[in-house]
Amino acid sequence: MRILLRNFTALTLADESLKDGVWITIDAGRIESITQNPKGVETKGFTKVIEGKDKLVMPGFVNAHTHLSMVLLRGFADDLPLKEWLEEAIWPAETKLTPEDVYWASLLGIAEMLRSGTTAFADMYFYIDEVAKAVEQSGMRALLSYAIIAPRYDRGTIRTLKAAQAFIQEFEGEASGRIRTALSPHALYSCAREVWERTIELALEHKVVIHTHLSETEGEVQDSYKKHGVSPVKYLEELGALEAKVLAAHCVHLSAEDIELLAQRGVAVAHCPTSNMKLGSGIAPIDELIRAGVNVAIGTDGAGTNNNLDMFEEVRLAAFLQKVKGNPTVLPASQVLKMGTVNGAKALGLEAIGTLEEGQKADLIILDLDRPHMVPTHNLISNVVYAAGPADVETVIIDGKIVMEDQEILTFDEQEAKHKVKELSAKYARR
Ligand SMILES: [Zn+2]
Repeated sequence: MRILLRNFTALTLADESLKDGVWITIDAGRIESITQNPKGVETKGFTKVIEGKDKLVMPGFVNAHTHLSMVLLRGFADDLPLKEWLEEAIWPAETKLTPEDVYWASLLGIAEMLRSGTTAFADMYFYIDEVAKAVEQSGMRALLSYAIIAPRYDRGTIRTLKAAQAFIQEFEGEASGRIRTALSPHALYSCAREVWERTIELALEHKVVIHTHLSETEGEVQDSYKKHGVSPVKYLEELGALEAKVLAAHCVHLSAEDIELLAQRGVAVAHCPTSNMKLGSGIAPIDELIRAGVNVAIGTDGAGTNNNLDMFEEVRLAAFLQKVKGNPTVLPASQVLKMGTVNGAKALGLEAIGTLEEGQKADLIILDLDRPHMVPTHNLISNVVYAAGPADVETVIIDGKIVMEDQEILTFDEQEAKHKVKELSAKYARR
């Protein structure tokens, strides 16, 4: 599919400048050319030409941490602390999950993400091959991993680890490279030492990312000191996990030494401000992590703790949550927007994604600028971060294919996904 975007305002994020009158040609999944000088651009032979008057084109968001199928449990158990929420509400409900539930919930979650401008995400969940099926069908891009919750290293755990490995062998690079795979021991506190050791071996063997939860609550950190005599970050280091590429969600409670270690070992952090606020987990030291040189991306976490998958909101809240500590100059709009795009792509290990440049993969979104809250444009980055929302997203292109056009999803039946999730979620209702 050859696509021509004609005369757009563009935020390439290759630099911070805003460009007017930009022409982009897309071919074979990539940005073939991007120019403000359309004289040399051949205008014939395109499958699709999109006009850019009053439109902004920019890279899609990368949601660096989520559990997509938890849309099934949206609003199911709110206003609880993490431990109680997980152990008394979520984990018992998740024993009822079926592959069919996960498939339809994933499609619904993808519909929500496309509508809010997300073009790639990192997901950790059960029946992950069903999530992969939904990713393949929808045209989305994702880093997917089997969630491993295994406090004991027993036969069941060995089966789970085998399934996680089989998933990597079967799905890495599938859907024309849109699916990448990872390994996900849920957290240090929910997996036995042997489980971590085996996972690390597998991650090094298959050269995949370890995507986990880390130092989310104060209680988790205290328990780690009691049990292992060191912080969770230090314990990960002792286990050898930092030899692998690690994507760590949350990282709310860190010592200065932890921050240094995360920076030294190139651990990427997925900051989830809404989840941290809603569960009362605390304020992650994002400003300090960035100053130490850590790659910080942004994630929504699952719809159980958010309760949506809206990256506009998440990016905005990431900025506000640092500023609320007393310094409004930290995390300016341009920096936080990069965290939600370029940094996310890097954290997920996705190459050629996150900026609009020649040769990059064509993952981009088109926003309508002709809306009351987008006028005037003293600073368009500021408008995108502090004023825009999902309703402004018109068209989404992933891997050079139009997956949503004029707010209509083209790759699957969104109505059917909504209907199925309504039907399937009935069994989770709390009595
Ligand atoms: Zn999570």
